[in-house]
Amino acid sequence: MNVMQGHVLAERECESDEAPVPAEVQDAIRTLLRWAGDDPHREGLVDTPSRVGRAWREYCAGYEEDPTVHLHRTFEEVAGYDEVVLLRDIPFQSHCEHHLAPIVGTASVAYLPTDRVVGISKLARVVHGYARRLQIQERLTAEIASCIWDGLNPQGVAVVIKATHGCMTGRGVRTHGVDMVTSKMLGCFRDNPSSRREVLSLINND
Ligand SMILES: [Zn+2]
Repeated sequence: MNVMQGHVLAERECESDEAPVPAEVQDAIRTLLRWAGDDPHREGLVDTPSRVGRAWREYCAGYEEDPTVHLHRTFEEVAGYDEVVLLRDIPFQSHCEHHLAPIVGTASVAYLPTDRVVGISKLARVVHGYARRLQIQERLTAEIASCIWDGLNPQGVAVVIKATHGCMTGRGVRTHGVDMVTSKMLGCFRDNPSSRREVLSLINND
């Protein structure tokens, strides 16, 4: 009984934190539920339109932020460190702009500093800032790379993303277990074959 009450309370507190979902948004979701073949007024679906509305604000929270701000605070005292900085396999979730289906995967982000570095968690924040929008994987990869290129002025940037696409596993060809891999290389990682080999071997851990 206590557990149940606690659960209900927690849910209410959590939901009251958030802005109300406009009636027209809830109506749109009810229309979709009806069109999909269900009854939006049955008990289990009554609160679904407001939940879906709030969930989509969260999935798309990246529209409310400018990911470049995460790179404003940099450190120049790097004690002569001039090798690759790599944050590997950052888990992320995005949504494809063609089907609004989830894109779930990992991003590896590397750069070769010129004269400054950034707090390592900031690279993950940049990834999430672009992932929490409607995307295609190719653009997500390119946007992360150019944000770091412009923000840190490094000698090179490498971004490799591996992800599965809900629109491929759950519909259409229904192919499971397939990753899509995209990469964007800038500066020395694009122009210098040995730098490129080095960073790819670090990213692939081989
Ligand atoms: Zn899709």
